[in-house]
Amino acid sequence: MNVLKPIVVLSVLLMMGTSCIVAQQIPIDSIFLFTKTTPNNIHRPAIEAGIKAVKKIGEQNKLYVEVSDNPEDFNRLNLSRYGAVVMISAGPRVLDSIQKDAFKEYIRSGGGFVGVHSIADRNWPWYMSLIGGTEANHPEPQEGLVTNVSKGNLLFEAENGPWIIKDEFYNFRDIHNDINVVLHIDEASYSGGEVAKNHPVCWYREYDGGRSFYLALGHFSYHYTNRTYLNYLENGILYAIGKN
Ligand SMILES: [Zn+2]
Repeated sequence: MNVLKPIVVLSVLLMMGTSCIVAQQIPIDSIFLFTKTTPNNIHRPAIEAGIKAVKKIGEQNKLYVEVSDNPEDFNRLNLSRYGAVVMISAGPRVLDSIQKDAFKEYIRSGGGFVGVHSIADRNWPWYMSLIGGTEANHPEPQEGLVTNVSKGNLLFEAENGPWIIKDEFYNFRDIHNDINVVLHIDEASYSGGEVAKNHPVCWYREYDGGRSFYLALGHFSYHYTNRTYLNYLENGILYAIGKN
């Protein structure tokens, strides 16, 4: 598999006795899907469906997909093998401070991040900035009208809408003003929206040396077999690994 390539590079670096491991080029042909979450997480069905979806996206794009629920995989050496770290309603709340530092170092070395739905860690400000917005609350799941408002990135412009989707729509606080909004939800189309006229539910951005894509939709497992939804997830992964 292509994933062997960075290992070879790494081995050579180690044989050379160099300590510049993080300086190696980030591989763009492999992704790391982290699945560990807190006990009794209601998103477990979505996480399981997400694993299948990401594996399929990997096959279609010739990307090696490593699926792991081991927090110890968040170390500098391991993460340097991947073009992006993907989390679907699983998140860094299960990581200790050393593992969080390794993830931060990874992003600062040019790594990619894909976050889907429930991934907040409000006790980690740097990480919440990486996402670019903080989920505050949400009304009961219901149908809402979603529109593609992306401009300037062909990956996302290819999709069009509008799109009616039943989901759990997060209200956000602390939305960074430099995010590139891909999807916007019309708050007039459902009840309980509290953000504003421009309520983003999907966006991407560069942050602290890395690339970040966030898709707030995805509470239910059926999303992960929906073609429109999967197109956004796929293009988000491609963006994160640098194929924009
Ligand atoms: Zn949810």
